[in-house]
Amino acid sequence: MPEEKFDCIIVGAGPAGSSAGYTLAKAGLSVIILERGEYPGAKNVMGGILYSHSMNEIIPGFYKEAPLERPITEQRALLLTDDSGIHLGYKTKKFAQEPYNSFSVSRANFDSWFAKKVDEAGGMVIPKTVVSDVIKEGNKIVGIKTGQGETLYADCVLACDGVNSLLAQKAGLHKEWEPSDVALAVKEVLTLPREKIEDRFNLEGSEGCAIEFMGTISKGMVGIGFLYTNKESLSLGIGCLLSDYQKSLIKPYDLIEEVKSHPVIRRLIEGAKTEEYLAHLIPEGGFYRLPEVAASGMLVCGDAALLVNSIHREGSNLAMKSGVLAAETVIEAKKRNDFSLNTLSLYKKKLQESFVMQDLKKYRRLPQLLHKRKEFFSRYPQLASEIAYELIRVDGQVKSLKEKEIIKKIFETNSALGWGKVAFDLWRATR
Ligand code: FAD
Repeated sequence: MPEEKFDCIIVGAGPAGSSAGYTLAKAGLSVIILERGEYPGAKNVMGGILYSHSMNEIIPGFYKEAPLERPITEQRALLLTDDSGIHLGYKTKKFAQEPYNSFSVSRANFDSWFAKKVDEAGGMVIPKTVVSDVIKEGNKIVGIKTGQGETLYADCVLACDGVNSLLAQKAGLHKEWEPSDVALAVKEVLTLPREKIEDRFNLEGSEGCAIEFMGTISKGMVGIGFLYTNKESLSLGIGCLLSDYQKSLIKPYDLIEEVKSHPVIRRLIEGAKTEEYLAHLIPEGGFYRLPEVAASGMLVCGDAALLVNSIHREGSNLAMKSGVLAAETVIEAKKRNDFSLNTLSLYKKKLQESFVMQDLKKYRRLPQLLHKRKEFFSRYPQLASEIAYELIRVDGQVKSLKEKEIIKKIFETNSALGWGKVAFDLWRATR
């Protein structure tokens, strides 16, 4: 471990840490990234769809050399009940062209590659190093301690250490998250020959498909599932609020087995072999639960700052953007030779002006709405399925009678839940 003092120490070589490290190294600042994994990405879990725009801002044309799986050209959303599915999809060849929209990725490969780029830009990436605490002088953070008892000093420390963020907790910026602030996601990587994937998902060549699903499949818990195509494997998973798992006593591994046997899913994954089984938390507390992200000598980025837009399944891009904005703030602080909270608060302003905070603010009421109105994961998908069934079934019944039947179902749900509830919930959800 090098002894000298750095301009910046970054804890964690995920998307947030490597984005910050790359930006700082390119600007000529001395930067070191400490990563607990055997190599960057070794312990990281993502669905995983990586968005082109954030990465392209950092390394233009990254897709020409990064280890990516498939450019996503089709996006599908499924509303599932126990025995049915309503499908909504969008496919375009435009997403198969530069600058692309998104790619499926394996984080183990992608994170290693990104960390190498930091190294090439002049940063230092040290794996197999757990950071266990911050070093304070008065109320200023001036360095870190590793699990091996080593100390390292810097003008600024960036906590990019993911959802549990031990570092931000040690710095006193937040306490442990509440179980309703995080989703517990389980994911399986299922291997399947390339031709079968392309056949089953209607893909031409290297194109990819991303499917998200919700409904009664999560057993009334607030949750979303995903099925993404890689080159020669599929990523299948589902994440539900930890607080809901605690209440329902459902086991995540039982839930994913049920997902795998769902009539809409099972044919898509038939014959695939489970290569990996992974579990990880996703921060889903939303805007009103965001912690303090700046202190004297320290900034917090990505999942460590709860920066996830769960409704759009965006997390890696918010992590990258926040990493870049934190790096820009450190560069400004270096110019002013002032790493006090006064200058580092610039980071908060930059976040507020970016899509990161504006999007989180737009959906600020959604987590609370979904926590309270479990009907979104029980009665409403059931009602939607019953309506679709009536509409699609051809049985010789006069259409106007069918319409009456549908209206009756809506009224019945309304009176069961309380007058006006269905319309009010839908209005609030769309807002
Ligand atoms: P992380 O990626 O968690 O990186 C943190 C790094 O810090 C890790 O490398 C870790 O090993 C290291 N670390 C932690 N503690 C220490 C320590 N004490 N010392 C040293 N190193 C440490 N986002 C999307 O954009 N698209 C998706 O499809 C998507 N799907 C997801 C599916 C699942 C199942 C999950 C769990 C998440 C998903 N996300 C998705 C969210 C996305 O993965 C995160 O938002 C993103 O990885 C956050 O990046 P980060 O750098 O902040 O944290």
